[in-house]
Amino acid sequence: MSEPLSLVWLRRDLRLHDNAALYHALKSGHHVVPVFIFDRTILDALEDRCDRRVDFLVQEVNRLRDELAKMGSAIIVRYGKPVDVWKKLIEQYSIGDVFANHDYEVYAKERDKAVGDLLAEHAIGFHTSKDQTIFERDEVLSGKKKPYTVFTPYSRKWRDKLTDFYLKSYPTEHYFTQLWKTNPLPVPTLEEMGFQPEEETFPARTVPDEVLDTYNKTRDFPALPHGTSQLSMHLRFGTISIRDLARQAKDADDKTFMNELCWRDFYFQVLDHFPHVEKNSFRREYDQIEWRNNEDEFEKWCRGETGYPIVDAGMRQLNTIGWMHNRVRMITAGFLCKHLLIDWRWGEAYFGRKLRDYDLSANNGGWQWAAGSGADASPYFRVFNPTRQAQKFDSKAAYIQHWVPDVDQPTYPQPIVEHTMARQRAIDAYKKAVAKV
Ligand code: FAD
Repeated sequence: MSEPLSLVWLRRDLRLHDNAALYHALKSGHHVVPVFIFDRTILDALEDRCDRRVDFLVQEVNRLRDELAKMGSAIIVRYGKPVDVWKKLIEQYSIGDVFANHDYEVYAKERDKAVGDLLAEHAIGFHTSKDQTIFERDEVLSGKKKPYTVFTPYSRKWRDKLTDFYLKSYPTEHYFTQLWKTNPLPVPTLEEMGFQPEEETFPARTVPDEVLDTYNKTRDFPALPHGTSQLSMHLRFGTISIRDLARQAKDADDKTFMNELCWRDFYFQVLDHFPHVEKNSFRREYDQIEWRNNEDEFEKWCRGETGYPIVDAGMRQLNTIGWMHNRVRMITAGFLCKHLLIDWRWGEAYFGRKLRDYDLSANNGGWQWAAGSGADASPYFRVFNPTRQAQKFDSKAAYIQHWVPDVDQPTYPQPIVEHTMARQRAIDAYKKAVAKV
């Protein structure tokens, strides 16, 4: 049998630079080859056969293949269910060890357990590392060694702990000579996996300088082209390193931007410690809310036809480019839960279908924040007034005009619901739910 290889299973970390698992594999002493699996379980569940995330993955995996080919190496790419794929890889290759980075979603943890057990049966080591967060799991705990459920004290502890040590890059490039020398291997095409291309260019993977210079002044204004970084998709798939980005924010002394990266870690640790949030309210009493769940109103919200221009602009931006500005995510989500009294899970699932940066932890955290049911959520009696939000954050209506050009036309719908009545209706429904417990 040939000399055993170390395999690096890439999942949410599609890069060769500053990658913890790859670094540990390269230092293992064996030759190294990355593996990527287009997970059938996930792809089969996607409703739309044109999906920009699958497009992006195919593009990025091909980019990795090209980068590796330049170094005389390859990436093994398969389409299938992870355990089945690993069974075949074990047959085909002599594998010494497998390296991967931590993943905090329930499905991912179960998947990794099943693959880890399979590898153990074949006496293959499975080594996992932190990579996609700055602090994970139990690294930031309260004085009583409990996970934080409120953001402000969490962020204080997070910031206090954040020394340069945690932002150090893993210098993989020093060890690329350890990559397995072989010819490039085939990558499945979109069509082979049952998808159609979206014909889309994706956001750049670098932070425009002006973003870090002005972020705290611009981040809430959705009409500004560089008001925020638009890096969420790259962070989601690990095509940039969180440590690189945090270092840039630290060097620019951008505390506001750093705080957003802290929110990202916060929601990862909420999901990791409280996996029930995936299906239920973080605060159980909010599962008692009697939602109206009107399907016709939900459809109008999805299409951006509520007659509230800022809500409609956000939904049309989401439907068109697969991304929505954070301020408008808060407004549209709050509107669905409070004004329409529709279960946050419906909205969460719709965002999950459309967002190019969809990430279970941040999406669930954002939705439960807006619904008032989550860890450190906005209090239930705070009901955004969408008209006032638009006046404050889109005062010249530039964002609205861009996404809702028909806003002044007679065909533009009348408001789906009257604000004052809807606000009171929401507060009453929430009060009733809380009183039941
Ligand atoms: P920037 O403002 O430039 O922020 C930089 C990075 O910080 C982001 O790319 C993101 O990784 C992180 N970040 C910023 N704000 C948050 C936040 N509130 N929570 C967690 N991380 C944050 N973010 C996702 O990445 N995926 C989602 O599926 C997602 N769904 C959301 C749903 C709702 C209802 C809400 C209110 C927020 C959601 N967010 C989600 C958080 C936030 O809206 C996006 O991260 C942000 O709009 C992405 O744009 P950006 O890269 O320009 O962000």
